[in-house]
Amino acid sequence: MTELDKRQDRSPVPQGWTYAPAPESTDVVRLQDRYGLYIGGEWLAAKEHFTTISPRDEAPLAEVAQASEADVHKAVAVARDAFQSWSKLPGSERAKYMFRIARILAERSREFAVLESLNGGKPIKESRDVDLPLAAAHFFYYAGWADKLEYAFPNRTPKALGVAGQIIPWNFPLLMLSWKIAPALAAGNTVVLKPAETTPLTALLFCDVLRQAELPPGVVNIVTGDGSTGAALVDADVDKIAFTGSTEVGKAIQRRLAGTGKKLTLELGGKAANIVFDDCAIDQAVEGIVNGIYFNQGHVCCAGSRLLVQESIYEPVVEKLKQRMATLRVGDPLDKNTDVGAINSREQLERIEELVAAGKEEGAEIYQPPCKLPEKGYWFAPTVFTNVAQSYRIAQEEIFGPVLSVLTFRTPDEAVEKANNTPYGLSAGVWTEKGSRILWMAQHLRAGVVWANTFNRFDPTSPFGGYKESGFGREGGLHGMEPYLDFE
Ligand code: ADP
Repeated sequence: MTELDKRQDRSPVPQGWTYAPAPESTDVVRLQDRYGLYIGGEWLAAKEHFTTISPRDEAPLAEVAQASEADVHKAVAVARDAFQSWSKLPGSERAKYMFRIARILAERSREFAVLESLNGGKPIKESRDVDLPLAAAHFFYYAGWADKLEYAFPNRTPKALGVAGQIIPWNFPLLMLSWKIAPALAAGNTVVLKPAETTPLTALLFCDVLRQAELPPGVVNIVTGDGSTGAALVDADVDKIAFTGSTEVGKAIQRRLAGTGKKLTLELGGKAANIVFDDCAIDQAVEGIVNGIYFNQGHVCCAGSRLLVQESIYEPVVEKLKQRMATLRVGDPLDKNTDVGAINSREQLERIEELVAAGKEEGAEIYQPPCKLPEKGYWFAPTVFTNVAQSYRIAQEEIFGPVLSVLTFRTPDEAVEKANNTPYGLSAGVWTEKGSRILWMAQHLRAGVVWANTFNRFDPTSPFGGYKESGFGREGGLHGMEPYLDFE
């Protein structure tokens, strides 16, 4: 009997009740074998190249240019030329190009989302539902300000700075590009941007959006390369550096720029506390904890990597958290069911493994739900550490991976003290039913962003940035445009 005869007109009972694969097709993405440097609206050949891969299977995707110091200087000179006319355009003209970019990003969002997941390892549902809509929204939002600068900063005579050098990390490649480029253009600056070495492809595809939008040549230039290209950009003839990345490199850049008169904003690391009070809605808090640390494999500078639970509800919270973790689907970033994708690079995986080993060594208790990790590529199972002391490295250092450390507290004062006991100060989360407590906590937490009964929520109108070793300057909202302007 054939299979069809056997089942007649009835569908067979499934073999198992796990999720069936739901792979997103990669056909929509057309990659070139080799990319040059996007300078002055043209592709210029570079002398050296490196291979960019997909962390999901280590397959090579394309050859990408390693820009030399001379290439960077050329890009900056071209941007300076373009500044003459771009900064004199009426704001409404600049807005026109930016609205076009927003629209094209929305129209090509599937292509960008697939490429982002392919090159960076993040789940397609996150690139599709978070990175892309937010990237387009940033251009849309800042386009609206381009002809209203005098209203945004009344009686301050805002003027564009000149050329902005921008250096971005690998965790939200296209979104970080949008955070940086959109306010710079709205304010009338021109840009030279360097993407991170492991995730350059969406920035290179973005050059095609600039072509479609007919942005005047030289207004945005993209130079790929490693840290040495970034360092060359810092030293080049730029008026401002905007950097997002590690605290270590941020400090080096700050030292380098001291006394040069170049403006600087830094968005660096974090070790955010997600603080759960005993009057919160526990199930919602558990969702927020999971979202706070396992979103984008924990490759998030504002990740809620330290969970502070009020002692009286410690057990149910940890129990529910473990149950919820067991339902996370870890695997192919291009599968629409995947919750936790691939770790961005071998180097990052080794960093995570090293800190997790330190956590075990120091005496914390580890839990990882059973999950089958793919054989090829870079993977790390969602992890939670309990019995963590404040002095442990896993409670102090940024892991930048899907690893959560749980601590407890008894009183709001103690929660604040523990939350603030870190060199960082980027973000925090508070879970409680009490509005007055939310306000009190927000006042006392030394963090640039405090989320209440939610986590990792972003909006282009809302400023984002840190205190202490998390950097200075804000991105997003009007605050995010101010560092791109001079005032008389
Ligand atoms: P991460 O730990 O996220 O890799 P990094 O700070 O190393 O963060 O990288 C963030 C960005 O900074 C990347 O684009 C990287 O190439 C660039 N970069 C690294 N070293 C330097 C440097 N010395 N000067 C300027 N940029 C750098």
